[in-house]
Amino acid sequence: MSTIHFEIVTPEKTVLKEEVLQLTVPTKMGEITVLPHHFPLVASLQAGVIEIKLLDGKVETVALSGGFIEVLPNKVVILADTAERAADIDEARAEEARKRAEKLMAEKREDVDFSAVQAKIAKELARVKAVRRHRSRPGAKIEF
Ligand code: ATP
Repeated sequence: MSTIHFEIVTPEKTVLKEEVLQLTVPTKMGEITVLPHHFPLVASLQAGVIEIKLLDGKVETVALSGGFIEVLPNKVVILADTAERAADIDEARAEEARKRAEKLMAEKREDVDFSAVQAKIAKELARVKAVRRHRSRPGAKIEF
């Protein structure tokens, strides 16, 4: 069985380092699924959810704020700004942070960086989405 050496790394830590069957990632050009022997590529990633099919068929869900993916002949690396496994996400913290950012956005202050606030909202939404997806299939073996 062909597998992929897969890693997600942030400036703080290695979030995941595992042999996997396939992964789906949110690139800026749209979602892509990487299987073993995928052609090599580098792409920018946007905030969203990464789904990884593990060797036992289970799906690992990770929230991503943005970064890059490098697909090599049999290795895939994601360099992320921030990334968290769904099981490690504090949903209430993400919701609070999203609400704070949305309030700031609504105030339309001139001293506030609109794109930074928009990025913050997208990052917190990705965290909430990852938790909800993970919760909707605890321990489930999902076929892509
Ligand atoms: P907040 O707005 O909630 O205070 P922050 O802006 O400090 O968060 P980030 O800069 O996105 O958060 O991330 C800082 C660190 O905290 C990173 O390691 C990130 O993985 C972690 N982190 C942030 N939010 C959460 C969360 N809701 N659950 C788990 N880890 C989180």
